[in-house]
Amino acid sequence: GSFKGYRLSEDIVRSLDSLGYKHPTDVQNEVIPIALGKKDLVVKSGTGSGKTAAFGIPICELVEWEENKPQALILTPTRELAAQVKEDITNIGRLKRIKATAVYGKEPFARQQAELKQKSHVVVGTPGRVLDHIERRTLDLKRLTFLVIDEADEMLNMGFIKQVEAIIRELPKDRVTMLFSATLPEDVQNLCHRYMKNPIDVEI
Ligand code: AMP
Repeated sequence: GSFKGYRLSEDIVRSLDSLGYKHPTDVQNEVIPIALGKKDLVVKSGTGSGKTAAFGIPICELVEWEENKPQALILTPTRELAAQVKEDITNIGRLKRIKATAVYGKEPFARQQAELKQKSHVVVGTPGRVLDHIERRTLDLKRLTFLVIDEADEMLNMGFIKQVEAIIRELPKDRVTMLFSATLPEDVQNLCHRYMKNPIDVEI
């Protein structure tokens, strides 16, 4: 198949075309229709599968350009992954003029604060710094409708469970939550049970 089958808007299809994404990967094939239907998802899939675009495409499609407050939050275990995801989202959303902002540690707080004052549709970040911004009220998540927990097993292995839970408790209940993980150990499954609504399981 091609990306035309999902009834994505012209802007998104043309961005994918210019990225050279001709056909959806397996994980994209499974995830995109479910995410466009705004259902929660638990996806067992590792890096290299195209998982970033699997959540990035439906998020870019569904965010409303006019809204100034962030509508999607993507949590990643590392700064490197946060920067990469921000870049991928920016590319997928280029023609729709989607603005993504990355926030992570070891970079000046004030610069991220200034960027968050501008319109950001999507915020990508590591749990500690995201929580910092929430607590210092430089990140307003009242209008959030999508949460992605990326590489959940890695994130919990790195000891981020408390921060992740503290962040989730600040979010509107009426949202779509997608969790991606290469493995599904008990602590990851507990997170799913506690904070997701009848998630659909996808295994690639
Ligand atoms: P990821 O698993 O998200 O890290 O993606 C792995 C690589 O595949 C990245 O370099 C993406 O740019 C690329 N990619 C993702 N989706 C597609 C697609 N549908 N067609 C071709 N390349 C893709």
